[in-house]
Amino acid sequence: MIKCNFNSGPAMLPNEVLKQAAEAVLNYKNGESILEISHRSNTYEEIINEAKALLKELCNLNDDFEILYLPGGASNLFAMIPLNFLSDKKYASFIDTGYWSKKIIAEANLVSHAKVVASSEFNNYTSIPELNEIDNKAEFLHITHNNTIEGTQFDEIPKTEIPLFVDMSSSLLSKEINYNQFDFIYASTHKNTGTAGCTIVFIKKHLLEKINPTCPSVFNFKKNIEANSIYSTPSVYAVYVSLLMLRWMEQQTLEKIFLQNKLKAELIYKTIDESKIFKNRVEKKYRSPTNIVFGCESKHQQSFIDFAAKQNIINIAGHRSVGAFRASIYNAMNLNCVEKLANAIIDFEKSQLD
Ligand code: PMP
Repeated sequence: MIKCNFNSGPAMLPNEVLKQAAEAVLNYKNGESILEISHRSNTYEEIINEAKALLKELCNLNDDFEILYLPGGASNLFAMIPLNFLSDKKYASFIDTGYWSKKIIAEANLVSHAKVVASSEFNNYTSIPELNEIDNKAEFLHITHNNTIEGTQFDEIPKTEIPLFVDMSSSLLSKEINYNQFDFIYASTHKNTGTAGCTIVFIKKHLLEKINPTCPSVFNFKKNIEANSIYSTPSVYAVYVSLLMLRWMEQQTLEKIFLQNKLKAELIYKTIDESKIFKNRVEKKYRSPTNIVFGCESKHQQSFIDFAAKQNIINIAGHRSVGAFRASIYNAMNLNCVEKLANAIIDFEKSQLD
């Protein structure tokens, strides 16, 4: 029986994608396994170029952007961004919205000064903070669009005169958004756009002039662009799975996926809001549509996880830093599974209150 996997990443993939990914391991083309093809072959060039073209089309990116598939996760970008753009004479500003934004702030502080211009630490990251003033002397402003652990998301994107950098690891291609308003976008592929192993980067060309000449080559965005993302041998398989996922999205249509995402989030939040046992503490306008974090008294904690597991609902425990529960409902999560989770919440509650 197929499980409903609510993991925050690596996340559930559509069955069609899993089947094609499995077939490609044994025979991608002419008896060759995808795991054995050269990253310098025409075969791989076709894969990465198609993936980049699909990203451009699905995100409606203008020609100002370069697109990269870099090896490793978004945490690599936390280090690469400061190495490319900061120094002891150049600093950047950051909006602190929790665990992942703190990670890039810490990395920026290793190279330069990370100026925190707004933070929601005061309310335990249950909202997105107001940004009262933008420091125009900073090299860029960085935001974490969707906070995977805290279950929050920016309702409005700040308007800036300085370049706007955004971590979209858990929100890329999950709803309608104007990507062209940003200057630098990055997202791990293991949530909405594939499996673990690489990170998608969109970078506006004007930023390439600003890269520190002392930045180590393997981390240098310009050198990676010149090498069409094969400066270092990439995870061909992870890029291929990402391509399969992008093809799947194109075939489903974003219109249908985005509508379904909205319905999924509404159903779970409504069920939690009506519950006497479970609670979501996030201010309503900042609730994440992709990661729904909810809690209950500790006496129900493990029993709800066990109750859900019996119905093949898995990986609903919250991040180790916050505990409680988290339902991650990215594009591949179908409405049936979400209905199952909503019913499990209702049935569990009945069993406890009866
Ligand atoms: N940013 C966000 C918003 C995340 O959710 C995560 C977790 N996957 C990361 C960054 C770190 O990504 P990775 O584990 O791929 O380094």
